[in-house]
Amino acid sequence: MTSTYDDPAARYTYRSPLVDRLRKAGELEVGRLRLLMPPSFGFCWGVDRALAMVQDARRRFGDRPMWLLNSIIHNPRVNDDMRRMGIGFLKGPLAEPGALDRLGPEDVVVVPAFSAAVEEMKLLAERGVEIVDTTCPWVIKPHKRALKYIREGFTTVVHGTVGHDETRATCSLVRHHGGHYVVVHNLAEAEVLAGFLRGRLDARALAAGLHPQATDPDFDPARHLARIGVINQTTMLASESRAIADLFRRALTERDGEERLDEVFRDFDTICSATQENQDAAHAVAGRGPDLFIVVGGYDSSNTRNLARVGDGHGVPAFHIEGPEALESDRIRHRDRDSGRILETADWLPPGPVAVAFTAGASTPDAILGQVVARVVELAGETLAA
Ligand code: SF4
Repeated sequence: MTSTYDDPAARYTYRSPLVDRLRKAGELEVGRLRLLMPPSFGFCWGVDRALAMVQDARRRFGDRPMWLLNSIIHNPRVNDDMRRMGIGFLKGPLAEPGALDRLGPEDVVVVPAFSAAVEEMKLLAERGVEIVDTTCPWVIKPHKRALKYIREGFTTVVHGTVGHDETRATCSLVRHHGGHYVVVHNLAEAEVLAGFLRGRLDARALAAGLHPQATDPDFDPARHLARIGVINQTTMLASESRAIADLFRRALTERDGEERLDEVFRDFDTICSATQENQDAAHAVAGRGPDLFIVVGGYDSSNTRNLARVGDGHGVPAFHIEGPEALESDRIRHRDRDSGRILETADWLPPGPVAVAFTAGASTPDAILGQVVARVVELAGETLAA
């Protein structure tokens, strides 16, 4: 099944006319309020495209049983909508017990934007199910790069999260093609690997500094770190991925010399900057000096938490909320960045002229952000023009 959702600048699902308006204008005056919107926020193109493809597939396959291999995004409202459309889950916390074992040719299975493990794709093929593959084209690029590394004798180092669907799929691909991998989650773990490359840490210290499932089962650091190539999980911050690649480049230059660097190190040019763009755009809008910064997204969403921290650097009071129900005229319910506790803060909306900036995490539909903006306008005693 092909996609016609090829414009990364467009929004195809969960649209909100109010958010569309704000996205276009960047700013809106509503009575005493000045509403500010960053140029980039919310769903990335790959996720939006995947959701649009699911809606198409639901129409196209009528009453046939339809399943998501895994959640497309971790958003309760989107998952509820999927269930309302009669779409079940095969894996993850929402999985229907035994459904995976009962799959047959009548079933339609959606592969999510972040792709699937080789073993999962094989199982689907064996069962003869109809596959709707929504894998994001940007996710395929690091996969191709990893296969190239294997062909050229390099071990793949993934900047990603062990267990995340995308990294799980990448690691399975590498393993399936006889390659080796190491996953580093952040700069701290990358420092551990760089310490081993420089000969300052031994294999035991390396293993202790990484996630227990960070490497393939046959990984031998003494042999498999002679030549490394780096890729990243596309939802990581691009700036951190680049810093990690630079760290390895320096470590290998120290170990093998500048003249051998090309032989032992490969960098990537496949980075997807969707997450970074949201972060940079949040800095830009917070830098405009709003009185308030409202960040909308799940409390457990790490990219939303990162967005909520942006206000701190600009001295702007920032509130991380999950949706419009968090807002009352006299208080706001939000997640405290340091303690992780859910707090209620009184008198959050000052009287008089107020500039309010907004952004949304990568799993927040525009429709929810739109409800939040409308609620702020209502609580300020103002009315949106039709
Ligand atoms: S983060 Fe980038 S690569 Fe990943 S699904 Fe979104 S658009 Fe695609």
